[in-house]
Amino acid sequence: MSVGTGEHEHRVRPGKGTAVDVKLLTRAELALRGLGSDTEVRRPDGAGPSDDGHVLVDGANAALPSNPASPYTVRDGRVWLGDEDTGLTLTPVRRPAFYDLTTADGVPYEKIARLHGADVLATTVVQTCVRYAESDRCRFCTIEESLRSGATVAAKTPAQLAEVAEAAVRLDGVRQMVMTTGTTTGPDRGARNLARCVRAVRETVPGLPVQVQCEPPGDLAWIRELRDAGAVSIGIHVESLDEDVRRRWMPGKSTVPLAEYEAAWDEAVEVFGHNRVSTYLLVGLGEDPDELVAGACALIERGVYPFVVPFRPMRGTLAARDGVGAPDAQVLRHVTESVAAELRAAGMSGADQQAGCAACGACSVLSAAGG
Ligand code: SF4
Repeated sequence: MSVGTGEHEHRVRPGKGTAVDVKLLTRAELALRGLGSDTEVRRPDGAGPSDDGHVLVDGANAALPSNPASPYTVRDGRVWLGDEDTGLTLTPVRRPAFYDLTTADGVPYEKIARLHGADVLATTVVQTCVRYAESDRCRFCTIEESLRSGATVAAKTPAQLAEVAEAAVRLDGVRQMVMTTGTTTGPDRGARNLARCVRAVRETVPGLPVQVQCEPPGDLAWIRELRDAGAVSIGIHVESLDEDVRRRWMPGKSTVPLAEYEAAWDEAVEVFGHNRVSTYLLVGLGEDPDELVAGACALIERGVYPFVVPFRPMRGTLAARDGVGAPDAQVLRHVTESVAAELRAAGMSGADQQAGCAACGACSVLSAAGG
């Protein structure tokens, strides 16, 4: 089975299938094609593969692209496909009150951390990446574009993060925090700074669960250091387990061998616990979908949650510049449904991670599929 990466102008519907299948397929199509109407809370660029409007679909966090060409619209709190009611409800996420504040040293809170979904505070503590030269950069990433556009600042201090987190919890009911980082030049690859930031936030807001995301640190002792600093979960994101895909899509990051990822995941499971470790797996980079599912199963056996996310050609990425399209909705549904079934069988749910992308779920369709 091969993955389509072209334009998908027609809607794919199964000839027959259960209501759940159809709903999941609709949710997959929504994730890929987005909404024709604008949403109020967006993150226009940034680290990772998401560039979306934040809403609740059937009450769950969902990050949906804004796409004037999408056939999906919202009316009366429901998602419509033309004049057909899809049966999905949609609630916009309102602009949070903390966005209107400014730190003691004069930086708008909005440039320090952003609201993802309805209740997740997300920040990129270092907004530059040692791998951002065009020859090295991950082709789905725009980490430095948001810096260039002035939407954020290059480095957030621990004090700034603590200040913003306190306000976001108090004013907007934020329930978890995600801290990611661009890869730094040191052998810890950014983990040392992440640990400092986690510690500051946890000292100020002890009840706020924090997830950290980084490359496998050269010295695995940093994983325990992150846990000791107060992080409850960790994402070590490989994006693809296929070596060809890794080399093509992540020329810089793929120089870190998969064996290093495996060692870091195993150490992280040891330190953080079963189902407190996750990794992104992107659907639509050209990998074989069944091999992707098999790889996800192996991760589940390790105690690592495979956060299956559709690749979307975000503005400003090398992939979008080169005209690479999103994957086929049927492929996304197939992979998502298969991985969700394996997660259920293993008793692993994203929500159990307490903090992080798997707990938020907005960028994936996994939670809609019961994962
Ligand atoms: S899944 Fe992760 S990147 Fe996506 S909205 Fe949630 S916290 Fe943000």
